[in-house]
Amino acid sequence: MTAQSVTVRVPAKVNVQLAVAGPRPDGFHNLANVFLAVSLYDRVTATPADELRVTCSGPDADQVPLDTSNLAARAALALAERYGRDARVHLHIDKDIPVAGGMAGGSADGAGALLACDALWGTGASRDELLGICAELGSDVPFGLLGGVALGLGRGERLTPLEAGGTFHWVFGLADGGLSTPAVYAECDRLRAEAGTDPGPEQPSASAVLLDALRVGDAGALAGAVANDLQEAAVSLRPSLAETLSAGSAAGALAAMVSGSGPTTAFLAKSAEEAERVAAALRASGTCRAVRVACGPVPGATVVG
Ligand code: ATP
Repeated sequence: MTAQSVTVRVPAKVNVQLAVAGPRPDGFHNLANVFLAVSLYDRVTATPADELRVTCSGPDADQVPLDTSNLAARAALALAERYGRDARVHLHIDKDIPVAGGMAGGSADGAGALLACDALWGTGASRDELLGICAELGSDVPFGLLGGVALGLGRGERLTPLEAGGTFHWVFGLADGGLSTPAVYAECDRLRAEAGTDPGPEQPSASAVLLDALRVGDAGALAGAVANDLQEAAVSLRPSLAETLSAGSAAGALAAMVSGSGPTTAFLAKSAEEAERVAAALRASGTCRAVRVACGPVPGATVVG
């Protein structure tokens, strides 16, 4: 019997290391990008329809494009083209991941839609084939499928899964409005040029201390090793983030950082109880729009119904 609809749950990510090289001739930057999937999820439901259609619900739904620029639609079209199908599908995104928040929400939807359509159409694609389509859709898309913890090299799309020895507890500060990822990279290049900073090797590498901390599940050691080369640029474009970061540190977070290109801020806590305490203090500080508690690593895109 053919499935009537397929729902996939797909997580957001936080970058525990984001080392950014200078711009390449094609405008992209080589990265050493250590992704960790966290328990903030979008759900993508694929249902057969007369034509390709995207709808979205959730607090940020009005900021999500519903045309073929939506990564979920692009994923369905790419899969349909590869396997000779008609992309006659209704994709509904139940969105909980902040939009343009530096948590790869659009990429998550791309990975989620790909897996949902794959299950709906029964293409029989291998995991590697699906990961290949993800990489064509965008640098952060393959990780949405993979989940867990992974190192991304190149633009971040050349992924190697990493070991994680435990669960890490996070608090996220959601900001008003988003930041454009290309604008944050451009600001990073500008600040480096202005300060005469050497962007370092052509291909940055992962921090051995950070990988060890992940492997043994040591939150204290991880806190000492987290690093985000885009943080200064995100704060330069959105100076109020400095107050949010200070409020999280003052609340006792082990580490306070901008998540990816921002403007979401990420705070690492010692335990689930500590995360709730940091979250309460951050809420009381009035320095962000909303506060969310999550943990990770969690699995990548998963069929849930
Ligand atoms: P990243 O962390 O990968 O840099 P982000 O989390 O900062 O990304 P997204 O939420 O992925 O940002 O959205 C960035 C832009 O992508 C949005 O402003 C929107 O125009 C576009 N977009 C395309 N598809 C989606 C989608 N399914 N959900 C949200 N935004 C989407």
